[in-house]
Amino acid sequence: MTSPETTATPSAPEHLTPGQAWQRMADGNDRFVANSPEHPHQDSDRRSLLAGGQEPVAALFGCADSRLAAEIIFDVGLGDLFVVRNAGQVVGDTVIASLEYAVSVLNVPLIVVLGHDSCGAVATAIESMTSTAPPGSRFLGDLVEMIVPSVRRATIDLEPGAVLDPRSVGKLHIEASVETLVGRSALVATAIAEGRLAVVGANYDLANGRVDRSVVIGRL
Ligand SMILES: [Zn+2]
Repeated sequence: MTSPETTATPSAPEHLTPGQAWQRMADGNDRFVANSPEHPHQDSDRRSLLAGGQEPVAALFGCADSRLAAEIIFDVGLGDLFVVRNAGQVVGDTVIASLEYAVSVLNVPLIVVLGHDSCGAVATAIESMTSTAPPGSRFLGDLVEMIVPSVRRATIDLEPGAVLDPRSVGKLHIEASVETLVGRSALVATAIAEGRLAVVGANYDLANGRVDRSVVIGRL
């Protein structure tokens, strides 16, 4: 017998491919953007069904910003997403471990790495390049430091005299988060190589709610 965590739920009879999982996420986001959400899987029947196990459609690693409420913006419900979030979606050891759990135990076929425009963590990283003020704490400083390489990359790409665009830093940071995850986790890289997993980097637009895919590692 398998443990409860590995038991497929009756509501998820099929195992989705990475492409099917992304399509389901994209369809949910389309409903959210169009203001026609179905709010699926949010009742007591679903709760009861899931008590014995979970088989989420995907794992989502995103910024902790309160406006990026994962189940809402993808119009899904209980048991649909395995969610890991922190400020600025910076990839650290516990993040990698959590996502490896989702891949190796829950067999998710997709990891979505989700950043967004006007990210406070990205803005703080940009400000840190010119500010002499110390960070609020060692922990805050460490987090911001993990975004600074993307600020440096965006600065190198700047035309002379041009002003740094936070959106370009955010886009580079999403790509860097994806690359760091795949580069550091042999488990994730192996699952991608075997076609069992894809990792998608995407940006969430705070104003219109649209999730735009910007980078894919693996086959969708
Ligand atoms: Zn953010």
